[in-house]
Amino acid sequence: MGEVDLSRYQRQMIFREMGEEGQKKLLAARVAIVGTGATGSTIANWLVRAGVGYVRLIDRDFVELHNLHRQGIYDEEDVRRGTPKAVAAAEHLRRVNSDITIEPVVADFNPENAEELVHDVDLIMDGSDNFFTRYLINDVSLKLGKPWIYTGAIAAYGSSATFIPGDGPCYRCIFAEMPPPGAGETCETVGVIGPVVGVIASYSAGEAMKLLVGMGKRNKGLVYFDLMENTWDVFDIPKRPDCPACGLGRYDFLNAEVGTWATSLCGRNAVQIVVSGRHRLDLEGLANRLQGVRDLHVNQYLMRFRVNGYEVSIFPDGRAIIKGTSDPDVAKSLYARYVGI
Ligand SMILES: [Zn+2]
Repeated sequence: MGEVDLSRYQRQMIFREMGEEGQKKLLAARVAIVGTGATGSTIANWLVRAGVGYVRLIDRDFVELHNLHRQGIYDEEDVRRGTPKAVAAAEHLRRVNSDITIEPVVADFNPENAEELVHDVDLIMDGSDNFFTRYLINDVSLKLGKPWIYTGAIAAYGSSATFIPGDGPCYRCIFAEMPPPGAGETCETVGVIGPVVGVIASYSAGEAMKLLVGMGKRNKGLVYFDLMENTWDVFDIPKRPDCPACGLGRYDFLNAEVGTWATSLCGRNAVQIVVSGRHRLDLEGLANRLQGVRDLHVNQYLMRFRVNGYEVSIFPDGRAIIKGTSDPDVAKSLYARYVGI
């Protein structure tokens, strides 16, 4: 990168604790955002505008109409084109700031690729919507010694916490074991109010800027914001000596057995199929071989078709999202029939 024009950051730099020195730290910083849905896209928007020099956007999904009420960087055109979120986010945000590097990664963040996707960043931002991904981020953060910031938003409340390996508790100190599937509320079952996402994700983005610049006081607790009750609380998170992750050094989620697996996407009447190992599917070739399917659509990022009331989206890495069922076996058999395992 040549000499960067700092004038776009002028209002940020005149803030006393930031200064030009802080701005240069942001420009030298590298951040990975895991998930670019509601919280992740809000975080990405702020960090790109603030001038974080390198932002990696990791997301496995594509933009859908029911995302738009809370995912403020996407639009109807993204829905119409079926653009993967990571790519759509990168396209929009490059128009906001072309001086920095934005790298979209269309992938499921999983135990096989987690280390590779965050090994070269200074900070990991959680933009996900599920427990497994957060436990996985927690493991990889502890193993590689990288800080991460958790962000959650559901219904009318939001929460945020900053975890720094070796300095305080970790995410697994809060809940030692992952809640069973279906135990937690999800956006699909209890909904979510868009501005709540904006508030808490913006707060987390602010914490990220503080951490990267080294300014202000760090949030050492669990922030909990409730729009309906008009409350903003910070709860202590005690560090547990017997925490499986930071206490006993077990990375159960990072070391999870991987293979070809199907997971029901909570509340969405959809199943994701992930194929272990490195694959590169020839989507055009596959599309030419398909028989008896409807609405076949291929672009460089995905192939999509309908068959027997299901909508099947297949990505070049072999991953698939099958809508119209929450039964992993049905999804696997469709996958086997049309893609082959
Ligand atoms: Zn812990």
